[in-house]
Order: sequence, then structure tokens, then C-alpha cells
Amino acid sequence: MRIVVIGSCIVDIGMRLERLPRPGETLFAEEMAVTLGGKGLNQAVAAARLGAEVTLIGKVGTDEFGMRMLEAMAAEGIDGRYVAQDSRAPTGMAVPMVLPDGANSIVSAPGANLLLTEEEVSGAASAIRAADVVLIQMEVSLAANLRAARIAWDAGVPLLLNPAPAVGVTGELLALARYLVPNEVEAEALSGVTGDAGAAGRALYRDGMGAVVVTTGALGCTVIGRDGAVQIPAWRVDAVDTVGAGDAFCGAFAVAIGEGAEVIAAARFANAAAAVSVQRRGTSTGLATWVEVAEILGQR
Ligand code: ADP
Repeated sequence: MRIVVIGSCIVDIGMRLERLPRPGETLFAEEMAVTLGGKGLNQAVAAARLGAEVTLIGKVGTDEFGMRMLEAMAAEGIDGRYVAQDSRAPTGMAVPMVLPDGANSIVSAPGANLLLTEEEVSGAASAIRAADVVLIQMEVSLAANLRAARIAWDAGVPLLLNPAPAVGVTGELLALARYLVPNEVEAEALSGVTGDAGAAGRALYRDGMGAVVVTTGALGCTVIGRDGAVQIPAWRVDAVDTVGAGDAFCGAFAVAIGEGAEVIAAARFANAAAAVSVQRRGTSTGLATWVEVAEILGQR
């Protein structure tokens, strides 16, 4: 089963803090860790660890971090032939700040990610057409995403749009998505419906879609499909790091859909994969394997 991810590669410099700094204040972090992430890489790793054949389309710099990204993909068995190195910008970089309760705030500098062009995406058209699911997020340019979405649409390949961050998502892109997987904040931003994830998801659902799945953190997710909305509770676990929980969810959801699962079963599977990942520190490093997800699914 094949999954193509078009998305970002970002180096995460994770800081663990008691609280966020105030303007003008310098705080010492209790712990710092450098991990390779970005929604594109994270979702690619999430899907690869769950057994999918994964191709990533993206861009890194010609710096040392770009090389490390390509090595990490190879180590995870991800096909990185469409991840170009560009000398005009550094590899993307972000600083996630994680509080003791696992909540996170992130500052991100996209760098080379924004240089991925439509032409480069078209150069990977054969891989997109051969995919069972194509997965995109909003950390590369809208033009690159739209190109990928159109190639997938023309080939009848289902597109899963994770509209994260929601800024820059257009009606045109939404119309090309078979599956839309926003978190609560993104669902609110896209729909204009506040305070009710289910209602926001219903406002985003249209006929012909597979589903809108609104993820709601420790509460789980709400799946909106043809037959209405179903809330699926999360696993009760001790979360130590929720950075990348949405990526774990999206990668796993794509794998389940690619394997032919119904949306409710796919969302349950994705909840389980995300529950494994939030119990470990680091973004891409904490993602679940098939065996780990099977184990936690068997407990219910
Ligand atoms: P994002 O990381 O995009 O903000 P969410 O916070 O909604 O996304 O989390 C995505 C998914 O991760 C949830 O739907 C849930 O399955 C899982 N998850 C997140 N936080 C927890 C938690 N504290 N306990 C168990 N599962 C969690």
C-alpha cells in the first residue's frame, strides 16, 4: 500500500519549560532536544512505521540538517528521491516549547520548505498517481499543494488534507480533499463555527467527501461522514509530549484508509497510534509501530 506525502521537513529544537517566557524575559529551559520533524516528515514516518510504502515530496537546504533529513528518511525506509536540496534557503527550523502538562507552543521558520515548486511536484506525478492515498498539510506553498491535489484528483487518488496551520487554506484546495483532518483550532478557523468541534466539522463536510475528522486532543476525535457525526474517545494515557500528535493521527488515518478501512475504524486506529506517540518525547522519534498500535487496540 502506497502513501505519498507532500510536506515539510523541519528541525525541531524542543525546549521543556515550566511556563512560557514573557516579552523581554529570558528563561532557562529545563531540557533541550534536537529532533527531525516538520509535518511532512512526521506524517511520512508515522505512515512508514505502520507498514506503508511512503514517498515524501519536499525540500531541504544544502546545510548539514538537510543531509540529516535525507539520512533519517532512508533509515525509516521512506523514498526521499523527490526531496530536493536547495542552496537558496536553510532547512526549516522550529522551536517547540513544551510545558509540564504536555501543552505546546511553536515558533517556526519554514526556510527551504517554501521553495518547493509546482514543477518539482509535477516531476513526482507518477508517484502521486500510483498512490493509494496522498497526504498534504500547509507547511509548503499553496501552489505546490494545489498541484499535488490536482494530479491526485485527476488520477482518482484520494487526498487527505491536514489543514495545519489553517492560514492559507483556500476553497479550491478544500474542494479537492476527500478527507479533511483539522484539529479543533483549525476546524474553527476554517468554518467560522466556534466552541463546538462537531458543529465546525459538520460545516466543513460536503457531499462526495469520505469524511471530516476533527481531532480534539485528549478527548479523541469527531468523525463527520454521510451518516452524521460520531465522537470517538481517545485512549487514556499519561501524555508527556503532544507535539506531533496530529501528525501521528494523520499518518495512521491515511494508512488505515489506504488499507481499505471504514472511516470510523480508521479514526479509532489513528487515535491509538497517536496515544502511543504522546507518551514519548520527540516528534518523529516517538511515532508508533504497527505492533505497538495492535497492542493498544487489543486492550479495548
Ligand atoms: P494537534 O496535535 O494537531 O493539535 P490534537 O491535539 O487534536 O492534534 O491531537 C491529535 C490526536 O492525538 C487526538 O485526536 C488523539 O487521538 C491524540 N491525543 C492528543 N492528546 C492526547 C492525550 N493527552 N491523550 C491521548 N491521546 C491524545
